[in-house]
Amino acid sequence: MSPDPISVFAKIMVALRLLYRLLNLHYEAAWTDSWSHRRCLHQHQTLIEAAKCAKPRGAGWYVFAVEGDTPRELNETEDRIVNEFRFGTVRGLGDNSGQNLREKPPSPN
Ligand SMILES: [Zn+2]
Repeated sequence: MSPDPISVFAKIMVALRLLYRLLNLHYEAAWTDSWSHRRCLHQHQTLIEAAKCAKPRGAGWYVFAVEGDTPRELNETEDRIVNEFRFGTVRGLGDNSGQNLREKPPSPN
């Protein structure tokens, strides 16, 4: 018996959506300036790159992810990497920590 074409189509769409998000993931720096929220609008490929962009903007900076066109908060692992950069607690990870994370697919929520 051949598989139900509608369910096969649904599985393909789920896979394509996930792939689109993975291929279009980048990070941006954000900060507050005179009570308004600003973002750098760069497409940083790593968390550390975005954090380095954000750091000179002052103490209230943060990094967020953009999947496709949709901004989202960092997940726990991403957040830890940014905090390690912010507080200088990175041990042996260097600048590649964000890159390593990028090679793993983010959890689909
Ligand atoms: Zn930037």
